Amino acid sequence: MRKYEDSYRHKGLRRKLVETIRAKGITDEKVLAAIENIPRHYFLESAFEDVAYEDRAFPIGEGQTISQPYTVAYQTQLLEVKPFQKVLEIGTGSVYQASVLAEMGVQVFTIERQKKLFDQNKKFAYLRKYPNIKFFYGDGFEGLPTYGPFDRVIITAAAPFVPQKLIDQMKPGGIMVIPVDAGEYQIMKRLIKQADGSVVEEAYDRFSFVPMLVGKND
Ligand code: SAH
Repeated sequence: MRKYEDSYRHKGLRRKLVETIRAKGITDEKVLAAIENIPRHYFLESAFEDVAYEDRAFPIGEGQTISQPYTVAYQTQLLEVKPFQKVLEIGTGSVYQASVLAEMGVQVFTIERQKKLFDQNKKFAYLRKYPNIKFFYGDGFEGLPTYGPFDRVIITAAAPFVPQKLIDQMKPGGIMVIPVDAGEYQIMKRLIKQADGSVVEEAYDRFSFVPMLVGKND
């Protein structure tokens, strides 16, 4: 069961969470405002309601997690989105990251490989607020060739390598944010696609994600 009531207490906890994330180094005010506006407790079972505004990842079923707010803010900041851009997300999970992006005014195309998680989102009434999120059940390694090219690509699971098909689906000047490495930890990378199709790569901090897996799971 989930509870959909956003009280003053929740709002106060959210303000504190934003200050925590700011203190950890997030400076993009648009990202911080999106986190302040979104009731993260709606994305968790009510058993987690009291801890929903701690800066931690939590289980969402099927062995998957809702990312830590700091990690969501970090990836979103690196993505440098502008309103109306087309953003491809791999790993819908709880839809929290997709909602942060949608709140910032972009068109989100998000793919989830776990059928149960994909189906769960159809019943999630809060998401009616975001007609700018489109949901797909599929394998993120394949991307969405018929919906591209994309201005931005964000991968929210640990990628063993950078999938070339996702690079191919990016516009020139496009940005991809992807945690890479199949080990316990990943390095956050930002790839900028050049006009000639080549890619400039930047490396950032270390994170720990659930694995990006090949194929669908029903
Ligand atoms: N963005 C999510 C994070 C969820 S964790 C959130 O805000 O909650 C990562 C998610 O990626 C999991 O739900 C997992 O099932 C999914 N995933 C892993 N490999 C995938 C793939 N190849 N294609 C699509 N989704 C994948």
